[in-house]
Amino acid sequence: MTTRLHCSCASRSPLTNVALEEGLPAAACPDCGAVLLQMDDWRRWRSRSADGATSADATGVADMPADQGHARACPACARLMQRLAVDAQGAFRVDRCGPCQYLWLDRGEWQALVHRGLAEQLDTLLSDGGQRRIQNERLQATRMLALRQRHGDACMDEVLRIRQWLAEQPHRDEVLALIRATEPLNS
Ligand SMILES: [Zn+2]
Ligand SMILES: [Zn+2]
Repeated sequence: MTTRLHCSCASRSPLTNVALEEGLPAAACPDCGAVLLQMDDWRRWRSRSADGATSADATGVADMPADQGHARACPACARLMQRLAVDAQGAFRVDRCGPCQYLWLDRGEWQALVHRGLAEQLDTLLSDGGQRRIQNERLQATRMLALRQRHGDACMDEVLRIRQWLAEQPHRDEVLALIRATEPLNS
């Protein structure tokens, strides 16, 4: 990776070569700690690393990186990078330049990915399918939150329990009809 790229932070510092993990080179800003990762380097590292090359450490990094909230320009081609969600909670997003295959991580974001066991799934996570799945999870979570606010936790927990029970019934439609029926069932 070239070291002639400059960070987009106020310092405009030239990026310097670092190793994110053993066998995973990247370029980092000495001023703000942001890291530029070439996806090909990541893929090489991923294909070489056996399972557990990075271990999610439950007692490790607790601090979540603060999301910068705005898109960055790619340091190589100056195009605006895509902001990609990393999880359904939307805790933070990473920036990617598709044409250059660069990934931009703010300080602490690589460690946070490792911490969550996501560092080795970047390609899946950032693929169109992965982003759609994250988006769907976010929509579902938002919808469930609204339902819980409207009906209360106890009610929604019961709804979820009954739905699961219904799904297991061999004559589900008949059972549903019995539940909805207005005429009394017991004599
Ligand atoms: Zn910087
Ligand atoms: Zn670019």
